[in-house]
Amino acid sequence: MARRELNNGPVIQDEKETVSKMIHIYCRKKHHHQHDLCDECNDLLNYCMQRLSLCRFGEKKSACSNCKVHCYRPEYREKIKSVMRYSGKWMLLYHPVYSVKHLVKQNQK
Ligand SMILES: [Zn+2]
Repeated sequence: MARRELNNGPVIQDEKETVSKMIHIYCRKKHHHQHDLCDECNDLLNYCMQRLSLCRFGEKKSACSNCKVHCYRPEYREKIKSVMRYSGKWMLLYHPVYSVKHLVKQNQK
């Protein structure tokens, strides 16, 4: 059986970039890692990248927080939730375009 292609369209790429930025902010502020991510955050980042590559909605995906399919394992879901909560406000300062896009997406139903 042929394996499904991994997602790599613009929506997924964009989402990956946003998630990666948010995890980096979180690790820098919370774990005081200046350049590289700590092991825990690195693990979370890899997990998120993998989930996005395999997201069944691909380019049609909505914000993960609105998604009906809970594809994250509970411990990762809790972690990424705290990252989003924590980094959300910093995203407004550092990367306004990303957070605005994210908010707009969240309000689309
Ligand atoms: Zn960290």
